[in-house]
Amino acid sequence: MIGVTVLGATGSIGVSTLDVLARHPDRFRAVALTANTDAERLAEQCRQHRPQYAVMVDPAAAQRLGELLADMPDRPEILTGVEGLEQVSSLPEVGYVMAAIVGAAGLRPTLAAAHAGKRVLLANKESLVVAGALLIQAVADSGAELLPIDSEHNAIFQCLPPNFSDGLAQVGVRRILLTASGGPFRDWPLERLSSVTPEQACAHPTWDMGRKISVDSATMMNKGLEVIEACWLFGTDTDHVQVVVHPQSVIHSLVQYDDGSVLAQLGNPDMRTPIAHAMGWPERMDSGVTPLDLFAVARLDFQEPDFARFPCLRLAFESARAGGTAPAVLNAANEIAVAAFLDRRIDFPGIAAVVEGTLEALPPESVAGQGLEFLLDIDRRAREQAERLVLERR
Ligand code: NAD
Ligand code: MG
Repeated sequence: MIGVTVLGATGSIGVSTLDVLARHPDRFRAVALTANTDAERLAEQCRQHRPQYAVMVDPAAAQRLGELLADMPDRPEILTGVEGLEQVSSLPEVGYVMAAIVGAAGLRPTLAAAHAGKRVLLANKESLVVAGALLIQAVADSGAELLPIDSEHNAIFQCLPPNFSDGLAQVGVRRILLTASGGPFRDWPLERLSSVTPEQACAHPTWDMGRKISVDSATMMNKGLEVIEACWLFGTDTDHVQVVVHPQSVIHSLVQYDDGSVLAQLGNPDMRTPIAHAMGWPERMDSGVTPLDLFAVARLDFQEPDFARFPCLRLAFESARAGGTAPAVLNAANEIAVAAFLDRRIDFPGIAAVVEGTLEALPPESVAGQGLEFLLDIDRRAREQAERLVLERR
């Protein structure tokens, strides 16, 4: 029986994870569930999954959770703060940690799980973007496992040979083809983009996700973050990762080999597939996902990405090439800009403008030999700068 901590249990990935977990009660049990502020939802989840620990990051919400669970027999111990998240990520009775918090807020608990030698099921791509070197080193030092949940990276992992960490060139891989849906505005006239509302940006054509990643998909920053994520996970660089727009979201990514072979992973767009894959690996297990019907799909289309329409994708490639602190600055500025867009404080094109302005104001510095505190300081400075740029745009 494998104990599982679900960081971000109340979110889109968290809910899908608990669905998969509940299908295999003989194999997994929830040890800890965490959320930021949604005490009502976490209380329901605690009653259903009976974890030993529940973490509400917000202290007032933690108190509320205590009240909601007051009558529950064997109620979970309630913890709070980032310390609570780190604690439940490194418990001895936990084997797997699902890292499904959104944004750089997921970094500390994800690192804690890596240091503690857990199987880290990584949905929180922002941790790798901000602190890729630290996270990969922590995994190597502790003997943890890092399995990708992001559908594209999970697909690539499935298409690579088991010894891919010897180096992609070494195992005959020429490049990685990272698919992207192109989001809801792929075909919109450019001049209409300034009128995009948060509701339109969050209505993704093929995936049902949290609000931040939905906006990231609409700007294609999500694909940019995923290029950086792929470089860390598979030990490669941006010259070996190509973005391919594929509107149907049926092919989740591909790997091109030296002999001309291209391997792809296909499936319906449902995150329970990569979640079940990573939880069951190296075995396969039921995920509850409807089998793919190729006749219903009928056709698969592919296009080159349009860097003029999607400046965030260009900025992410530039940040990946610049390296050092650039990806952390990119990520922090994007988190601020997306939140400002969702609050209707800036327009949709303003997201890329704020990110670009922040990158210009904070030129890349080396991260060699630097630790977490240095990166968190850069993250804080980039957020402050991005907030200033948001105010200037109003
Ligand atoms: P979501 O907004 O639906 O859920 C986010 C979760 O994180 C919630 O449980 C929330 O309580 C928690 N959270 C938010 N802020 C927090 C904070 N400051 N401290 C602690 N916890 C906090 O997001 P999601 O769509 O489930 O995405 C989660 C992560 O998975 C993101 O990094 C996203 O990029 C990645 N991801 C999601 C999908 C998807 O289909 N939703 C696909 C691939 C990758
Ligand atoms: Mg993805």
